[in-house]
Amino acid sequence: MQIIIYRGTHQIGGMATEIRSSTTCILIDMGDELSLEKDFKSTSLSISGVTDTNGSCAAVLFTHYHGDHIGQLKKIREGIPLFMGPLAKDILLATLSQNTDSLKRRIEQARTFTSGNGFKIGDLFIKPFSVDHSACDSYMFLIEADGKKNLHTGDFRLHGFRGKETTKLLDQLNDKVDALIIEGTTLSRIDTQPMTEMELQQMVRFYIDQYKYVFVLCASTNVERICAMSKAVPRGKYFICDEYQSNLLDLIERHWGKTSSHYQNIKKTTYGKNLLPQFLKRGFLMMVRVNGKFRDIIRLFPPEKSIMIYSLWDGYRTAPGSTIPDFLSLVPQWESLHTSGHASPKDIQTVIEKINPDIIIPIHTDNPEMLRTICPDRNVVVLNDGETFTI
Ligand SMILES: [Zn+2]
Ligand SMILES: [Zn+2]
Repeated sequence: MQIIIYRGTHQIGGMATEIRSSTTCILIDMGDELSLEKDFKSTSLSISGVTDTNGSCAAVLFTHYHGDHIGQLKKIREGIPLFMGPLAKDILLATLSQNTDSLKRRIEQARTFTSGNGFKIGDLFIKPFSVDHSACDSYMFLIEADGKKNLHTGDFRLHGFRGKETTKLLDQLNDKVDALIIEGTTLSRIDTQPMTEMELQQMVRFYIDQYKYVFVLCASTNVERICAMSKAVPRGKYFICDEYQSNLLDLIERHWGKTSSHYQNIKKTTYGKNLLPQFLKRGFLMMVRVNGKFRDIIRLFPPEKSIMIYSLWDGYRTAPGSTIPDFLSLVPQWESLHTSGHASPKDIQTVIEKINPDIIIPIHTDNPEMLRTICPDRNVVVLNDGETFTI
């Protein structure tokens, strides 16, 4: 089995990994590079058989819907089947802007898989496993061919609401894994231990108790966190969002409602001016985004009783030219309340111990060498983008 990481051996994001058996070739993810620069455009990936006809690619599998894994989907040659999680597919379709008909058609045609149910593509046997991440419906892939097995983790963590399930799943994985391709986003910030999503939810409760009007700035597609925020609102107060956010919450309830009360019965009110007297009277937690519409709404409420919770990565706020500081200044007080979507270094070690692979290949990291430092007794192979590695 051959592995080629086209991008992501020495950077966070822009992912594309090729897995090749003696007869079949597939790609995992096709993402945009990440940057904090304004109007940044990712370099296009050029992959034989995927973006041109000089070769063959039997399928492209997506670990999840973040742009750094899916952003270059439109560059994939027509006719190559796409695979993704069923909820991820619906969320992607719901977030597409207008004038994207060809992309929409492509995603509508994507095939879906379910966690734990393997399928064949050529002579590759693929088993997807649902994992915890800040994008819901994210997957690891166990890929078997030529008598070898490799596990590609995608982006994952163990400190979210489904972290325990992810740990359990890894415990039950009895397969002997030859190569583990593991994300290492946090390897460049080794000394930090993230707060759990459960702790974050507790903090939200604390702010709801202190302030009558709580505005929250959070990625709309971080749907599990938003479910948790809605559940933190006590009876008598409103959980408010707009139509767009409401649709995303309906999707998670439809797909996952039966699996846990966390995704069920989300009591939301869609913002409408007619309800303003009620909102003023009872108080609320409101999901907002940085735009003129929400600026106008925030100004309708007494600032001394309002707080803004900033629930995004701090880099977006501090980036040169960011409009976020100005938005936060709409209310006199704001607090940062966020936790990483990525496994901590300690959890990366835990996963490596559980899987016990012969070879470990770090990806999605700007400090792959750090994996050697934290796992000194392991066979860590640091690849370069585009290099072919045979297991
Ligand atoms: Zn990523
Ligand atoms: Zn991600």
